[in-house]
Amino acid sequence: MKAHDGMYIDGAWRPAASGEGIDVVNPVDEQVIGRVPAGTAVDVDHAVPAARAAFPAWAATSPTERAARLAALRDVLVARKDEIAETVTAELGSPLPFSQNVHAAVPIAVAGSYAELAGTYSFEEKAGNSTVYLEPVGVVGAITPWNYPLHQIVAKVAPALAAGCTVVLKPAEDTPLTAQLFAEAVHEAGVPAGVFNLVTGLGPVAGQALAEHPGVDLVSFTGSTAVGRQIGATAGAAIKKVALELGGKSANVILPSADLAKAVNVGVANVMSNSGQTCSAWTRMLVHRDQYEEAVGLAATAAAKYGDRIGPVVNAKQRARVLSYIDKGLAEGARLVAGGTESPHEQGYFISPTVFAEVTPEMTIAQEEIFGPVLSILRYEDEEDALRIANGTVYGLAGAVWAGDETEAVAFARRLETGQVDINGGRFNPLAPFGGYKQSGVGRELGTHGLSEYLQTKSLQF
Ligand code: NAD
Repeated sequence: MKAHDGMYIDGAWRPAASGEGIDVVNPVDEQVIGRVPAGTAVDVDHAVPAARAAFPAWAATSPTERAARLAALRDVLVARKDEIAETVTAELGSPLPFSQNVHAAVPIAVAGSYAELAGTYSFEEKAGNSTVYLEPVGVVGAITPWNYPLHQIVAKVAPALAAGCTVVLKPAEDTPLTAQLFAEAVHEAGVPAGVFNLVTGLGPVAGQALAEHPGVDLVSFTGSTAVGRQIGATAGAAIKKVALELGGKSANVILPSADLAKAVNVGVANVMSNSGQTCSAWTRMLVHRDQYEEAVGLAATAAAKYGDRIGPVVNAKQRARVLSYIDKGLAEGARLVAGGTESPHEQGYFISPTVFAEVTPEMTIAQEEIFGPVLSILRYEDEEDALRIANGTVYGLAGAVWAGDETEAVAFARRLETGQVDINGGRFNPLAPFGGYKQSGVGRELGTHGLSEYLQTKSLQF
């Protein structure tokens, strides 16, 4: 993928307002692999009116027409899946098989799900003597992170387009090449000019300008809780709709009746995949005191097996941040049973798969999101204790429950303050609503719930 020296606005690649650029770095070897324009408020001022101008005609298209464009988009993503995987690997550093099986495959599934939903969703309801129309909200300002670069984009743009909204996207500065590739795919799919627009740039510059722009009707943001709080406040002051997908500190609760080895092995894999850069990762493993030592041994072995098979984290700043959390875990008295701060490679932003035992609920590593390959194992006394620990953070994005019997696991899962729970290793479902309780966010993505974020209602009484 060759970097574009421009912004995709109103159906064409246009020069950026300023001559500034952002270097794209491969986290495996720290080499610069491309440069994209650093957009400013001026570029956002070009993109938002383009999206506004395109809105009435796009909103007026039939759901079948929008479904056809989304199906075409999915087909282009399928045709370019190898290039997508290679681009994500180049700028995020994830091993190629993971990029193929997750970073390319999941957005293709999500785009496909919205191609189908756009054609089958009922945009009209009856309620007594009223007809309720579900109408697009308008211009969407989408701001996305780097950890699942294409998935985060598709999870916003596909439902927005299905609803009849138009979009200006500001992707993460670490992974702009994937976003440029996506813009090419939108173009190839025959989506009309102005319906989708891309402005690359820094968060506090281009991102903030987009969130604050009066021409944006809805801000959909995925990223850190700190920035989400700021965006929520800006949107609130302007009485704008907002959707926030934020951080997490999910619990993996292993009840005594569970298959311990399976629960621990899947739990370790869950945390280490994508080098721990998954908002919904089960970074706290909760084990009953009678099984604690066995679980710690199993987890240490499983983490060591990952060795240098995992990729680096995205950049030097993230690496320093994750290492400081490992230092903090040691300083606060947790017991290191795998990994640590020593780098497994001379070059690149690698971190050893790390496991801490003897982690107590109040420790920093049990409370704050680390966003790296670091697992904390906590001991619980009984189910009530496990529940208290699991619910004892400000986050509530995801989680897992393992038990010998599904009914037992479901009963426990229903008491968790979190938006998603995988039962005995349940698989990812691109149709299931994804989003957080508590400070993990506002709103939902994926499936019909994700679509309804981009719709507003109009009731006609007869
Ligand atoms: P981040 O908040 O720093 O950046 C996310 C996006 O916001 C980027 O595009 C960035 O440029 C932009 N941004 C930064 N400052 C901004 C500002 N002042 N105004 C407007 N936009 C701004 O987050 P990150 O480090 O890129 O991503 C990691 C975080 O994202 C983690 O906390 C993770 O949990 C979270 N995340 C959440 C989900 C979810 O669905 N809940 C999914 C993935 C990642």
